[in-house]
Amino acid sequence: MLTTLFQPQDYRFPETVDEVLEILSQHGDCARVIAGGTTIHELAYRKGMGGVHTLLDITRLPLGHLIATPTAGVRVGATVSFTDLAGYVAHNYPRRLAVVADAIAGIRPMQIRNVGTVGGSICSSLPFFDLPAALVALDATVTTRRLNGESRTVPIETFFWDFFLPDLRFGELLTEVEFAIPPADAGGAFQKFESNSVDWALVSIGVQVRCSEDRFTDVRIALGGGIGRKIARASSVEHALLGRPVSTEVIQDAVRGVVDDVRAFSDFRGSASFRNHLLKVYIARCLIQAARRAR
Ligand SMILES: Cc1cc2nc3c(=O)[nH]c(=O)nc-3n(C[C@H](O)[C@H](O)[C@H](O)COP(=O)(O)OP(=O)(O)OC[C@H]3O[C@@H](n4cnc5c(N)ncnc54)[C@H](O)[C@@H]3O)c2cc1C
Repeated sequence: MLTTLFQPQDYRFPETVDEVLEILSQHGDCARVIAGGTTIHELAYRKGMGGVHTLLDITRLPLGHLIATPTAGVRVGATVSFTDLAGYVAHNYPRRLAVVADAIAGIRPMQIRNVGTVGGSICSSLPFFDLPAALVALDATVTTRRLNGESRTVPIETFFWDFFLPDLRFGELLTEVEFAIPPADAGGAFQKFESNSVDWALVSIGVQVRCSEDRFTDVRIALGGGIGRKIARASSVEHALLGRPVSTEVIQDAVRGVVDDVRAFSDFRGSASFRNHLLKVYIARCLIQAARRAR
């Protein structure tokens, strides 16, 4: 039980980003940001909340924005919920941003989609979570802020260092995620394989492609789940597909190269060789689906 594992002495509702940054810089590791609060129990269970006495609930901050600009792409505030992001995508870019829609549709149960946030999903830094792989496929960037107006924007692909270890520096808050609006010839897909609907995925795949005259002109494949300690790219597969015709044979041939890209691990959910097999099957399925959507 969380209550026996972790009992904060203080729970605050800061109203501004600066207020959060001020408290984080004062209290350091003894204060922890909480958004949807759905990973905190996991952190406490794994003894990741040691020494934390203050929780800073950031849901009242003005970080719930979802803004599309033709030049800058889509800017998603850190506290936007999965449900709100899915609604935005379905309404505005159902085909071009299908990778995001697919990933969120796979997050269960609905209560988690309603309270879990984009920022919390990223800052948990777990390759088993779905949205981060979709965002890597989209080549998204994340923006963080620190006291005194210091701000960093980095590719999301480099933001994950290890389990529960995002590239967040002392006193930093993730404020926004941003990705370009994919062009009209783009399509994406996300699929995962779980042994049951409440466990972490054995493999999860986010794919974003562009196709012209029935050939792949751009391919990004992000691999999550139990394939390593952070989200990886299937670079060999991507390179093998560039300029090649969109066909099942070409795809089946290219996905064999994924074993050069990642070192899947074995655990009670499945062996490394089973995961390697799943990777090939699920990357191929995602590529076919993404290419269909790109036409
Ligand atoms: C029953 C259940 C089922 C689930 N099923 C799925 C699933 O099918 N697919 C899936 O992908 N995930 C699933 N999850 C995980 C869920 O996606 C994550 O728990 C959620 O994304 C975390 O978001 P949050 O807002 O609740 O984060 P929180 O729990 O509030 O925070 C998580 C971590 O991020 C930090 N943090 C949060 N926001 C920021 C910020 N803006 N800046 C800096 N640090 C920040 C917190 O300090 C904490 O360390 C499930 C969780 C549960 C409990």
